Amino acid sequence: MSLYGKPIQDLKGVGEKRARLFQKLGVFSVGALLRFYPRAYEDLSRPLSIREACPGEVSAVRATVLQRPAETRIRGGMTLYKCTITDGESDLFLTFFNNPYIKNLLKAGEEYIFYGKVTASFLKKEMASPEFFPAADCPAIRPVYRQTEGLSSRLIQNAVKNALLLLPSEIKDPLPEPLRTRYDLCSLRTALEEIHFPPSQGALLRARKRLVFEELFVLQLGLLKMKGRARCESSLRFTQNFTPDFYRLLPFQPTGAQQRAVGEAMMDLQSGRPMNRLVQGDVGSGKTAVAAALCYNAACNGFQSALMAPTELLARQHYQTLASMMGADIQVALLTSSTPAAEKKEILQALAQGGISLLVGTHALLSEQVAFHRLALVITDEQHRFGVEQRAALAAKGDNPHLLVMSATPIPRTLALMIYGDLDLSILDELPPGRQKIETYAITSEKRLRALGYLQKHIDRGLQGYIICPMIDNAGEDGAAGDRKSVLDYAQRLRKLMPAARIGHLHGRMKPKEKDAVMDEFAAGRLDVLVSTTVVEVGVDVPNAVIMMIENAERYGLSQLHQLRGRVGRGTEKSTCILVSDAQNQEAVTRLQTMCRTSNGFEIADEDLKLRGPGDFFGSRQHGLPELKIANMMENMEALKQAQQAAQELLRTDPGLEEKAHAGLRAEVARLFTAMNGN
Ligand code: ADP
Ligand code: MG
Repeated sequence: MSLYGKPIQDLKGVGEKRARLFQKLGVFSVGALLRFYPRAYEDLSRPLSIREACPGEVSAVRATVLQRPAETRIRGGMTLYKCTITDGESDLFLTFFNNPYIKNLLKAGEEYIFYGKVTASFLKKEMASPEFFPAADCPAIRPVYRQTEGLSSRLIQNAVKNALLLLPSEIKDPLPEPLRTRYDLCSLRTALEEIHFPPSQGALLRARKRLVFEELFVLQLGLLKMKGRARCESSLRFTQNFTPDFYRLLPFQPTGAQQRAVGEAMMDLQSGRPMNRLVQGDVGSGKTAVAAALCYNAACNGFQSALMAPTELLARQHYQTLASMMGADIQVALLTSSTPAAEKKEILQALAQGGISLLVGTHALLSEQVAFHRLALVITDEQHRFGVEQRAALAAKGDNPHLLVMSATPIPRTLALMIYGDLDLSILDELPPGRQKIETYAITSEKRLRALGYLQKHIDRGLQGYIICPMIDNAGEDGAAGDRKSVLDYAQRLRKLMPAARIGHLHGRMKPKEKDAVMDEFAAGRLDVLVSTTVVEVGVDVPNAVIMMIENAERYGLSQLHQLRGRVGRGTEKSTCILVSDAQNQEAVTRLQTMCRTSNGFEIADEDLKLRGPGDFFGSRQHGLPELKIANMMENMEALKQAQQAAQELLRTDPGLEEKAHAGLRAEVARLFTAMNGN
């Protein structure tokens, strides 16, 4: 029985209550605890002298206790314990609160390592409640775990110690021996022991190296296994290419990049093997038309396609766009969770009989009742909103259908190839002609009225604008939620301020029907201004809207601002983005300056990476990959490359990971990808 099957409460010292706390940290089994790696380490291997310890810093100090801690009662029933320690050169004062054991734990004349934050007052150095270890018996490096109320890092450390004792003597290593030799990786036992209790920095590095490699290797195996279907035959071959016919239906000339992407995808579709392709293109590059071309081809070849969008609003908009692009001969339907029951029944029936060629929708498409007659092409839009496993769930509705993912998250090509190990890549690196740079300004709230005057001028010319607020309504009694603007309040004030303008509002608490109605009005030009939360962030396309005003702009990350700004500049009129913010902190100011300086999605993604750090950028939410415990794709690029190579090689000899020696790996792959579903 694997330790993953052993519940955490089987561990010595872990009862019902503590088990629940562990579960809060995502640790349900003994096996999972061993993979609950420290978030940091305290280095006690090189303690300082008291003189060297700097006030304000956390340090390890080696010193001898001068006298037994003295007890003082202070107000509020608190007891204080004080003593002085010395290293022969200088003294340092220790204080502990409410800890009667201290008197017996710290012995006069004995030497200890004290670890804590050093403070200074009146030329005295102090430490409050430091941790301490007898100098003769002090670990070199101590693990620090992510803790939760009631479950301290120290308690977790003890539990891990007990868990390590349970490791069987013949522990099965998921990494095959030859691989470990080749990449110079230590055994799993050594890695687990030393990642938690490293005897030295060198040992810690060695343990990390092995675990990082293992994690990336398992990730790549999972991704490549999905791609592995590419080797199998597909009965869904597109025999004819109808792309020229489709282009004739379009109201515009497709860009070179669009034609290239469609061409690459058509090669896949005609190849007799399933397509796995990512189309990456900045906001406004025209990804929808690429999808439409392929759906059109599917329909004309007698197949069905499905397109899944992350929001109801976007699904509906895609439905309208695609239906009009493909002409009346091709049946397109929309299915979301708010489709009325009767209509839904009709759609499902027609779908099963093949009467519908393209089904557009939200997650509702994944529902069990949705069955296709001959599903050949599955497209997901704004891929970072979907996980790998959702993509797989939709694909499972057909007999190994072709997959296309569309994403507006710009990632450098080399990196994309690695993290989307399972996908081929087409890049839309060209915007439709006639697009002008979106002028972007950052202003303070003092200039808000002037900005609104600028908006009014555009309304007078028949153009439209968005105003984005971070809140829906004002939580506070006095109508103010701090300095944050709210959609409802803003819309109301604006209606007074611009009585002639037609002002609508939109937010996530409205019913889908109401949202649709407002969006329709705005798209049809019957509203001049749309005051909205970020629900319009993803994909909404109204080319006549040319002003994007973002209130409390400091509250958004760069990528989000870029997506929001991408709602304008979609036609031939010059567009403007106005970022309103009174924030003064350096990071926010840098972000707004970046927005004003560039509109290049790749550059913005790079900057975002610098400002927020890779951990955040590559958190699973950004790209729909499983969450990694120890590896970081940005920092461990070299390991990622090796892992991808090794995974490719291994799958070449054992594509299904069916060999006995690979059972452990198979289990790890399954574990990584099912962990995602739980999130
Ligand atoms: P995104 O890549 O952000 O999803 P869309 O597919 O929504 O972009 O396209 C943005 C806008 O550009 C839409 O209004 C679309 O009709 C228009 N568009 C797309 N391709 C072209 C083209 N080749 N020429 C002119 N306009 C285009
Ligand atoms: Mg789009």
